[in-house]
Amino acid sequence: MKSHSRANILDVIQKVQEAQIQNEGLSPHFNREKYCGTCLSHDKAAHPETDKCFHCDSDNWISQQEYNSRLAK
Ligand SMILES: [Zn+2]
Repeated sequence: MKSHSRANILDVIQKVQEAQIQNEGLSPHFNREKYCGTCLSHDKAAHPETDKCFHCDSDNWISQQEYNSRLAK
């Protein structure tokens, strides 16, 4: 089983901070069935134009089953 390294966690934090600046003033949409596998946000917020994760700007969508199994680790 592979766990997140510290470098990966710092990388995600940086992406989240960059996305916050980039998405300022935009409203996300919430019509996805999937969750973000990068920042594991629970609200399924997606960018209104690019459809990437609104929180970390990645395109790493995972199923609810996968999401639940990641949270359990
Ligand atoms: Zn994300």
